[in-house]
This record gives sequence, structure tokens and C-alpha cells, in this order.
Amino acid sequence: MDRSGARVTGFKCVLCDRVYAPGEVTYTCVDCGLEGILDVLYDYDEIAREFSRADLERSIENSHWRYMPLLPIGSEETLPVLRTGWTPLYHAEGVLGLPNLYVKDDSMNPTASLKDRATSVAMARAAEEGVSAVAAASTGNAGCSLAGFAAAQGLPCYIFVPADAPSPKVAQLLVLGATVFAVDGTYGDAFDLASEAIAAFGWYNRSCAVNPYLVEGKKTVALEVCEQLDFEVPDKVFVPVGDGCIMSGVYKGFAEFEKLGFTEKVPELVGVQAEGCDPIREAFDGLCELVPCEADTCADSIACGHPRNWRKAVRGVRASGGRMMAVPDDAILAGMAELARSTGVFGEPAGVTAFAGLAAAVREGSVTPDDTVVVLMTGSGLKDTESAMRAAGEAVPVGRSLEDVERALRDRAEI
Ligand SMILES: *Cc1c(COP(=O)(O)O)cnc(C)c1O
Ligand SMILES: [Zn+2]
Repeated sequence: MDRSGARVTGFKCVLCDRVYAPGEVTYTCVDCGLEGILDVLYDYDEIAREFSRADLERSIENSHWRYMPLLPIGSEETLPVLRTGWTPLYHAEGVLGLPNLYVKDDSMNPTASLKDRATSVAMARAAEEGVSAVAAASTGNAGCSLAGFAAAQGLPCYIFVPADAPSPKVAQLLVLGATVFAVDGTYGDAFDLASEAIAAFGWYNRSCAVNPYLVEGKKTVALEVCEQLDFEVPDKVFVPVGDGCIMSGVYKGFAEFEKLGFTEKVPELVGVQAEGCDPIREAFDGLCELVPCEADTCADSIACGHPRNWRKAVRGVRASGGRMMAVPDDAILAGMAELARSTGVFGEPAGVTAFAGLAAAVREGSVTPDDTVVVLMTGSGLKDTESAMRAAGEAVPVGRSLEDVERALRDRAEI
């Protein structure tokens, strides 16, 4: 029986174009190995016959399960219960001088990052397949997300993080009951060790590097943006890029709604990396293969020196007519404070990297007040309080009297 979702027709390798039937392959292309990431194929004619804009307008589902016809899930009986997606899209009118700026706050997901979109789909698949334990390598958020969903589903969870992952993320992993391996090395080292352990112990692999279902979950953020803007696609969408899985999903989501006739175009996608780790930007600009790098950035969630979804991401950005850019850490930290203070949305460094990229694009004039722009905010600022303190400044020390407060306010010229 085809259990990979009613409308999935197969899987296509992004490197050699070989197509697999549902059930024929689990993770990556048999011929290409790790380089052969798979793309999930659907029968869009069939989907178009049974799924319309009117269905969405009528839908009362306040999660990303409102897009079931476009998801690779065979049975609704095994859907995870943690409510994911349908996050707010705030109109941040006038911020950065842009009357038509929108901020998609994906810190409002169950474990406070966009990763939950991907995990929920992977866990629905894992439940259909009856797996007994789940695992992933993670810079932090993917692990936290998997740990949350595993806890809700009662499954053991094994997470491999680099030893220098921010402590709030490690706390979140531990409190959710995951077994956490703090690997003495980079995310790349954690990835390699996790791959070995997953093969040795037979766990289900949530790593976006190999699991083709994760992009399918991440694409729902683009579908929501379309709906929340009444199917008027914005001109530009700014996306933070680490491994490239979010960008791949964002492109796929916009392209699918266009294919179904729900929208009229795909927006220009602008991928933003940290200057201290921008191998996808380099591959994009240099029209070349990816050269892995040593990551050096405070934006730990995009500190991915050897991205695996880079081909899909680069193709998506190109097909959209967009581009890749990179911003330095001080711009990311400044963006953290500026976004929080102008909108009330508090993001971690990777979460605000797209906003920092947009700020730079406004300064250089490549985004103007005529543009309708959406910026993805992908993770909560509470996940990295150390960076937040670097971005935030200091508390005002005072004694216990009102005079102390008055003096302090006068010093700050606030009264
Ligand atoms: C994982 C992550 C990203 C980057 O996503 P990729 O799919 O690795 O490109 C961006 N922001 C946050 C908060 C993340 O956790
Ligand atoms: Zn292949």
C-alpha cells in the first residue's frame, strides 16, 4: 500500500533526476548517497480537482494541517497533537521606512521555532511507519522541536548538538526528556556522529539533510503568507538560510500555490546568511559547487558550514528571480534589538537574520517603500539570552527610593 500520502507520486533526486516510487527509498538517492537529496512529487492535477481556495477560506483549522492535500501524509489518525503553524503575520507598517512590511512570527510554534513545521510532518510519517525512537543532529532548534514532538508522542529521542550550543536550547532539550549528546566539535561533527549512531541503532532520522519530508512541512509557512495576504503575493520575501531547507520549502510552497492557480506569481526570494558562514551565498554568486566552510557567527541556528539542501535552495532562489546576501554579526545583533523595539517580536540571532538583511537592502536601495515585503522571523529570542544581552544594553541600577529613580531618569534625559 502507498502510505506516503494519497497524492504523492514519487521522489526525485535533485542531483541525477532519478525518480523513485513511493516506498522504494527511505532517505536519499541510492545512486548519489548524501548528495542525492530527494524532492517529494505530487499529482497536482488530482490535488487541483479536490482542493480550492474556497476550501481554505472556509477552513476553521488553525494549524498548518489546513494544507493536508499538499502534505505527504496518508492518515489523519496519526497526526501529532502539538498545534503547529498558522502563526501571526504582523503588518509592521512604517518599520524600516516600509509602509508594506509584514513580519511572520514563527516563534509562536510549540517549541518556539519554525522547525516545528518540519518536525510535525516527519513525526506524522514516523507514526505511520511505527518507529520506536527518533533522532537528529541539530544546532539546537531542530533538536528541541523533535524532543517536544517525541515527548507528546511518548517516543525516546536522541539529539546530537555541538557542545557550544546556547544553554537555553540545551535546557529545553533536557527538560523535554531527550537524551542529549553534546558533541565535542561543530554541527558538522555532530551530524556525522548522529548519522553513524542512527545507522547503528535503527532510529528514525529527522535530519533535514536526508529526510525528504521536512521541506514539505517548512513549505507551509509560504502557504500561510499567501492566505494571510488574501492571495496577493508580496514582491519580496526575506528568508534566513543555514542548511537551505527553509528556503527550499518557501520556494516550493509559493510555486505550488501558483501551480494550483491560487496565486499569480512566486515572489522574489532573498536568502540571508551570516557573513561568518555563507557558503550558499558563495555558491549562488560564484555559479559554482558548494565549498564547505568553518562557521563563525553568533547566529548558531544558521551556523551550518556544510549545508545539504543548498542545491534545492539555490534553484529556488534562482527560479524566483531573487538573490542571496550575507550580513555581519553586529548587524544581526542590531537587528535583534531593532525588530524587538519596533514590533514587539523578540527573535534569536538566526531568527532576525532575514530582518537584518532587509535593513541592509533598504539602506543600499534595493528595497524601496513601493515594495510589499515579508520577512520570516524563525525562532524565539529566549533561546539565546546571551546574544540578547549583547544586543540589549544594561539595566539601570537604583537604590530603593523614588529619588533614585528620578535621578536615573534625569541622567538619561527621560524627564
Ligand atoms: C534552522 C533555522 C534556520 C535555518 O533553516 P535552514 O533550513 O537550516 O536553512 C533559521 N532560523 C532558525 C531560528 C532556525 O532554527
Ligand atoms: Zn541521484
